[in-house]
Amino acid sequence: MIDGHTRVCGVIGNPVEHTMSPAIHNALAEKLSHNLVYVPFHVETGEVAAAVKGAYALNVLGMNVTVPHKKEVMEGIVEIDALAEKIGAVNTLVRTKGGFKGYNTDMPGLYRAMCSENIRMEGEDVILLGAGGAARAVAFLCAEKNVAKVYMLNRSVEKVRMIAQEVREKTGKECICPMALSDYPDLPDKKYLAIQATSVGLFPDEDRAVIEDEAFYKKIHTGFDLIYRPSNTKFMKLVRARGGKAYHGLKMLLYQGIIAYELWNKVSVPEDLAGEVYEILKEKMGIKDEG
Ligand code: NAP
Repeated sequence: MIDGHTRVCGVIGNPVEHTMSPAIHNALAEKLSHNLVYVPFHVETGEVAAAVKGAYALNVLGMNVTVPHKKEVMEGIVEIDALAEKIGAVNTLVRTKGGFKGYNTDMPGLYRAMCSENIRMEGEDVILLGAGGAARAVAFLCAEKNVAKVYMLNRSVEKVRMIAQEVREKTGKECICPMALSDYPDLPDKKYLAIQATSVGLFPDEDRAVIEDEAFYKKIHTGFDLIYRPSNTKFMKLVRARGGKAYHGLKMLLYQGIIAYELWNKVSVPEDLAGEVYEILKEKMGIKDEG
């Protein structure tokens, strides 16, 4: 029941109409009996700082920030968390004295998703596909979690070189090995954890994988696709066809939301509740099987 005490949270983006975040946060609020509603806000590029200032004045408790505003929003905040600064992207705003503080919960969200599937990063050899905003965050996660080596492959290799250099400068780790996407046959003959962070295969382009060559997939023991629409991507199908385990990105989305909710409400969401909200998300997306 919305009343005079109801707190408001929301997500700003453009487009924002297909967001799953309200389903996560409104379910958490209901299950935790918090008087809180979460709504989408369509915000145009160039208006982000004004939107953030207005949200603060309206006593909004917290905000998520999605594509394409994760960098622009940094102009509208008063403080930035060290991790978000390293990654160079903010997806969560938390009220502090005088304005919002920016956090990045995508990266810890991916880590929590992997832990919940018993996927280890520490000491692993990793193939990271892509060098966009998401892949950049994953590269920092790999460095922080002390993976053995990250073979980071992208269509434009220059982008990977820049990320490798930034990771080296900001973390002191030399773990990223930049490669052109087309050089995948040169990957050392080992078994890898592969993280798919390109947008290839995203709905409605479901029949494509960033690497189509089946031989590549024999090197993968576990494939984690950040894409969750569709929930069984071509990349995942190719991994499974060669005997590997494959996961989609819906749990990453779930946990980035849960971590934001925890920051706003100063609570800890237990795993059984996370599981209940995950079931709600899966139902909304019509996902039945889990591979
Ligand atoms: P982005 O910044 O636009 O980066 C796109 C990446 O895909 C780049 O590396 C780009 O390569 C590559 N790419 C695009 N078209 C390609 C093609 N035809 N062939 C080869 N490579 C191609 O996107 P992003 O924000 O990093 O997001 C990447 C994916 O992660 C999206 O599908 C998004 O839905 C997903 N994601 C999921 C979550 C979650 O919570 N599960 C969170 C964030 C992102 P170039 O650099 O060469 O152009």
